[in-house]
Amino acid sequence: VKVLLTGGSGFIAAHIVDILLQHGFHTVVTVRSDEKGKRIIEAHPNVPKEKLSYVIVKDVAKDGAFDDAVKSNPPFDYVLHTASPFHFNVQDPVKDFLDPAIKGTTGILRAIKEYAPTVKRVVITSSFAAIVNGKQHPKVYSEKEWNPVTWEDAMDHSQVYRGSKTFAEKAAWTFVEKEKPNFDIATINPPLVFGPIVHYLNSLESLNTSNQRLRNLIQGQMKEKIAPTGNFLWVDVRDVALAHVRAIEVPEAGRERFFVVAGFFSNKELADIVRETHPKLESKLPPADSPSDFPENIYEIDNNKSQKILGLKYRPLKQTVSDTIDSLLAVGA
Ligand code: NDP
Repeated sequence: VKVLLTGGSGFIAAHIVDILLQHGFHTVVTVRSDEKGKRIIEAHPNVPKEKLSYVIVKDVAKDGAFDDAVKSNPPFDYVLHTASPFHFNVQDPVKDFLDPAIKGTTGILRAIKEYAPTVKRVVITSSFAAIVNGKQHPKVYSEKEWNPVTWEDAMDHSQVYRGSKTFAEKAAWTFVEKEKPNFDIATINPPLVFGPIVHYLNSLESLNTSNQRLRNLIQGQMKEKIAPTGNFLWVDVRDVALAHVRAIEVPEAGRERFFVVAGFFSNKELADIVRETHPKLESKLPPADSPSDFPENIYEIDNNKSQKILGLKYRPLKQTVSDTIDSLLAVGA
C-alpha cells in the first residue's frame, strides 16, 4: 500500500514518516530540495529503497505543482497533505500564507482527481486555528466549531496563519462537495504541537515554530518574566502523527474532521515540569513562585471523537515536555 506525504521535511511529517514505515506503508515524500530529500533517506539507512523515496515539489502554491508528484507506478492509495507555511515571519499575507495554504490544498486535490484515480482517501493537516473563535469562545470546543475569520481579518499579520488554515480546510470540503472525486477526505485539527524534534532536519536556529517556546524557556529567555501563554491547548507530535496514519487505516475516518488535542497548559506549567524533570536547568528557569496566567474560567474541550474513531490515547504533558527537552539538549540547547 503506497502513500504520498507532502511537506516531508516538516516537524510533524518527520514523525508521520516513521509511523508509516512501521505500519508497512510504501512512502513517498514531497520536499522542496534534493538536499532535504537526501537527508530523509540517509536518516533511514535500514529502509529498502523502494519503501522510502522523495519527489521535489518546490512551491505548493504554483499551478500544477503536484501534477507530476501524484503520478506514480505502482500508483498511490492514499495522500497525506501536511505542507503549509507555519511561522511568524509575515511579509505578504497572501503570497506568504494564504496562497500556499489554499492553493496548495486545492492544487493537490485537483491533481489527484485528474491524475491519480487509485487514491481512496486524502488526509489534510488542518489545525485548531480553523476551529478557534478568538472573539467569543464557545462553552466546549469540538469538531463542530469553525473559526469565523474573514479574508479582511486575515490581512492582519496576527490573524493570517489562522485565516490560512481556515480557508484551506474550507476549500477542501467545498472541493469534495462540488467535484465529487473518487476519494474522500479527513482532516486532522491539532492545537499547539510539542514533541521531540528530528535531528536530521532541525537545528536550534531553524526549530519548528511550535517548539520554540520550550527552547526559549530552557535558554533562559523567560527567566525574568514568563511570556504570555496565548493559546492554552497542546498535543504531542507523536499522537498527531499517529492520527494521520489511523485516518487512512480506519474506514470510518473518511468525511470526518478530528480535533486532536491532549489538554491544557500554561508557560508556567511548562517551567514547573522542566524544573522537575531537568533540575540541572533550574538556573535558566523563572522563579518557582512566578504567577501563572492560566485563566480562572476557560472553555472545555471534547476530544472523544478522536479517541473513539482513531483510537488515540493521548500522552501526558510531563512526558511530552521531558522528551522534547531531551531532544533539544541533544542538538546543543
Ligand atoms: P514545519 O514548518 O516543520 O513544516 C511545514 C512543512 O511545509 C515543511 O515541510 C515546509 O517545507 C512545507 N512548506 C511550507 N510552505 C511550503 C511551500 N510554499 N511549498 C512547499 N512546501 C512548503 O511545521 P509543522 O510540521 O509544525 O506543520 C505541518 C502542518 O501542521 C502544517 O500544515 C501546519 O499548519 C499544521 N499544524 C501545525 C501545528 C503545530 O503546532 N506545529 C498545529 C496545527 C497544525 P520546508 O521545510 O522546505 O520549509
